[in-house]
Amino acid sequence: MPKIGRNDPCPCGSGKKYKHCCRAKDEAAEHAAFAAARAAALAQHQEHQARFEERQAQLEHEDELAHASNAVVDLVHAHPELYDPEFGTTFQQLIAKLDPPAAGD
Ligand SMILES: [Zn+2]
Repeated sequence: MPKIGRNDPCPCGSGKKYKHCCRAKDEAAEHAAFAAARAAALAQHQEHQARFEERQAQLEHEDELAHASNAVVDLVHAHPELYDPEFGTTFQQLIAKLDPPAAGD
């Protein structure tokens, strides 16, 4: 749509110049459409951000869990006199049951 000049006759057919007729209304509508598009883009960005942060928190949690599991396994290996040698394997199997690798993803 070609931009209407301020001094052009208003396209609504009133006979007035555009600037004295519908220009303010058209600009308000344009601004409203722009504001709505901006709000939608912002909402989408915030949704992406929220999902990203949720995923980050999940990954950090998984890291902590893996780190804690590894620490226990290391402890068992470092002190074989304190633990049944089978315990390390048993523990790893327990962890695998508690925290199965994510399907798909
Ligand atoms: Zn008009």
